[in-house]
Amino acid sequence: MSEITLQSPAKLNLYLKVINKRPDGFHNIVTLFERIDLFDDLSFCSKQNEGIKIFCDHPHVPIGPKNLVYKAAKMLKEDFKVKGGVEIRINKRIPVAAGLAGGSSNGATALMGLNKVWKLGLSREKLLPYARRLGSDVAFFLYNCSWGLGTSRGDEIEGLKLKAKLWHILVVPRIKIYSRDVYSRHKLQLTKRNDNVNILIRNLSNGNILGLGSLLSNDLEIDVVKICPKLLDLKEKLKSFNSLGVMVSGSGPSVFGVTATKKEAQEIAKSLSKRFSQVFVVRTL
Ligand code: ATP
Repeated sequence: MSEITLQSPAKLNLYLKVINKRPDGFHNIVTLFERIDLFDDLSFCSKQNEGIKIFCDHPHVPIGPKNLVYKAAKMLKEDFKVKGGVEIRINKRIPVAAGLAGGSSNGATALMGLNKVWKLGLSREKLLPYARRLGSDVAFFLYNCSWGLGTSRGDEIEGLKLKAKLWHILVVPRIKIYSRDVYSRHKLQLTKRNDNVNILIRNLSNGNILGLGSLLSNDLEIDVVKICPKLLDLKEKLKSFNSLGVMVSGSGPSVFGVTATKKEAQEIAKSLSKRFSQVFVVRTL
């Protein structure tokens, strides 16, 4: 029996453009992922008996077959005829259904953790199809990189070597928004706009963060705000603190600001903590 503990980080999307709807019902997108230092911990303990057992003390995280960690374990166990089972403990810190991809990250971490404790010896290429079966955001977390450009469903990943390490103020309102609801409301924009992702990537690669505000972009924001109009107030509040750019992450409701320094993020956090219970100062990992 072996036991390991791995960190499972969250992500932000600094850019998300919806290209079109696919015949399979998903959307083709272009997105810039940023891995941030807000983590869940996952502990894996291989067992001689056959069961897959998940433990998690968060009330909104399923511990049965709907958990992405459970699904990851079931797929690998079946496909590689693993003898014996596993107990996996999830220590949740990433807010759930918040646009931070906590569940997806847990799914990817489970694939990597089980690959080790079950000694499967699978490469990332071999794990990628399992990540894609779990969900569109899972593949990014198989890459050991701070930044990734996601295309197709967001699951074709190009790991990017960018110099930038950003500080963020991250506010997570206590409402749950599911990405499927946001995408189902989304109306494709017929007018073509400039594709700013390359300019954004160039600025980040040069460590130039001053012009970031005008380059952050999220096509889903308009739909998220329709579901929760109060997010506009939150965005305005964050902007009033002079942060360098403010945006909803992914399918929301998390809203983040880019700040020039850790101190600035901490000062904004102190002020916002009076009104919001889930306020974090986070950095590119
Ligand atoms: P989505 O875009 O799918 O809504 P998200 O990043 O906004 O994802 P997640 O924290 O991944 O939000 O959770 C979405 C849902 O996934 C949860 O409500 C929960 O029911 C389910 N889920 C399954 N496995 C997990 C897990 N390991 N951790 C958190 N949620 C999980």
